[in-house]
Amino acid sequence: MSTQKLFYSHTSSDSDKPLNPFGFKNRKGFLLNAKSSLSNAAFDICVIGGGITGAAIARDAATRGLSVLLLEKNDFAWGTSSRSSKLVHGGVRYLENFEFKLVFESTKERGLLWKNAPDLCKPIPFLFPAYKTSRLSLNTLSLGLWLYDTLSMFKSPSLHKRISKALCKKIEPALSQQELCGAIKYWDGATDDSLITLANIIDAHNQGATCLSYAKVESIDWAQCDQNQNGLDAHTIHFKDELTGDLHKARARCVVGAVGPWTDYLHQTLNLFNQEKRMAPTRGSHIVVKKDKLPVNNAIVMTHPKDGRVLFAIPWGKHTVIGTTDIFDKSSPDNVQMTTTECEYLIDSCAHFFKEYPLKSTDVISTWTGLRPLLAPSKNASASEVSREHELKWDDRGYLYITGGKLTTHREMAKEAVDQVLQKSLQWNKPLKELVVKCQTANRPFPKLVQIKHAEHHEFPEQQLSPNDLEIIMHMMRSEMILSLEDFFVRRTEIFYKHESNGLKMLSEIKDLFCSELEWTSSDWDKQVERYKSYVHKNVDLPLNRMTKSDPV
Ligand code: FAD
Repeated sequence: MSTQKLFYSHTSSDSDKPLNPFGFKNRKGFLLNAKSSLSNAAFDICVIGGGITGAAIARDAATRGLSVLLLEKNDFAWGTSSRSSKLVHGGVRYLENFEFKLVFESTKERGLLWKNAPDLCKPIPFLFPAYKTSRLSLNTLSLGLWLYDTLSMFKSPSLHKRISKALCKKIEPALSQQELCGAIKYWDGATDDSLITLANIIDAHNQGATCLSYAKVESIDWAQCDQNQNGLDAHTIHFKDELTGDLHKARARCVVGAVGPWTDYLHQTLNLFNQEKRMAPTRGSHIVVKKDKLPVNNAIVMTHPKDGRVLFAIPWGKHTVIGTTDIFDKSSPDNVQMTTTECEYLIDSCAHFFKEYPLKSTDVISTWTGLRPLLAPSKNASASEVSREHELKWDDRGYLYITGGKLTTHREMAKEAVDQVLQKSLQWNKPLKELVVKCQTANRPFPKLVQIKHAEHHEFPEQQLSPNDLEIIMHMMRSEMILSLEDFFVRRTEIFYKHESNGLKMLSEIKDLFCSELEWTSSDWDKQVERYKSYVHKNVDLPLNRMTKSDPV
């Protein structure tokens, strides 16, 4: 799993474009851009949702020459796209559900991400141990991994290997040896989900897209697309600036909903598809512990002793991540909440596989939980059996939604959505097709990243930041659209997850910088601190049944 946090500079292919830093100080200008579509030409596409799907659509469309507005109601990647298992993978476990097409497509996309975003997506080794009592024997695993290697066109860094019990002991000494038959070693990918989303957004921005976070779509006045004259008859999108409470309008000829688990909620708000329910989200949670509490060198594939579900213990720099659960959840995606039972479930799995490293809930530094945007299954499937395929559907007024899928397949999903928009627009008086070239993203490197943090070289200390640390933070604020403490601690850095104080000890040292960069008054700062403490309370204290962690420091 990547442990880097980076900031962006332009690639040589972008160097001819004027640099328009993607930071708070330019946000007013981006709002003006959006509003100017009322009097000037409408945007070709308005994308709702700044998770990986929306971000990738904005990038794909902008690189094909379309004018794009993207509106995200929270921070970019605030939804599911910052709460995944952070793997770019084919998904070995989908083989059990015979989802061969999904595995084939995902491993193809995994290869493209390794090529186009090498700073953010890296191969990592996985170890799938087999015990005498395991649901899956070593022979079955070996057969499955042959199929996996074949579906990935043998493009992993190396083919899977059978590992003897003796070698397992050497490479994974923490793994319980009793009744161990051996293991299969294979390769998959790890990423930073928030940052790959942000890299899509920044590339879209570099190509001229207007991307706004904290901009919530509240309603749309629909125009008739087929009567479109010179682009003047476009839909009017009403959105709220969540930072100021101001209401704004913008116009676009086509609207694409990419709101993942919010799909049914958005359609209810916009009165689309007779408010038919399409989603059956499942909740997935992770816990983070220090590496010495659970030392793993490979990502260990565990089958849970209670229900046989596959879950992982993944090395994450000086930490280990354990996840995930998979539970149908009908609650609002705005308030998804991990339970203490889930934490116990994850700890139980580790207790079974790492007998000499019994974890306690007090060892857990942080947690995260998200909703998988899964499509409602037609039969009575269990949460793990529900397909991870995606769906696209049109409303005749010029609205397309895309939902489902995986972080790994975001580029292919975006291509399909933009292809469909262009195809559909042929029915309009002034099709978008005349502007357009083919999808550009398969061979397009992500914006070149300037490394500012690497677990092995540089980590922000819990306290006593150096002038260099503060300068790095300032660069991130100016180029990565950090608009709140939560944006910084949770999605631009891994401080919330990895610091024992979840960043709370750092607050006083970054106060001046944040207030000056974001034009916060002292009372704005106090509100931000309170909000961040509630975040820590909700994601650490409550699921771990603790009362102390987010107390004032
Ligand atoms: P989201 O990321 O949820 O984005 C939707 C966005 O829409 C949100 O940010 C929301 O704020 C915004 N929005 C909603 N309403 C509005 C509105 N009215 N106006 C403006 N914005 C709005 N996939 C993998 O490939 N690898 C993995 O390892 C993996 N692990 C996973 C583990 C878990 C626990 C979960 C839950 C998922 C995992 N996935 C994984 C799946 C993957 O994370 C998701 O498929 C993907 O992130 C969905 O992205 P999205 O953009 O469609 O949705």
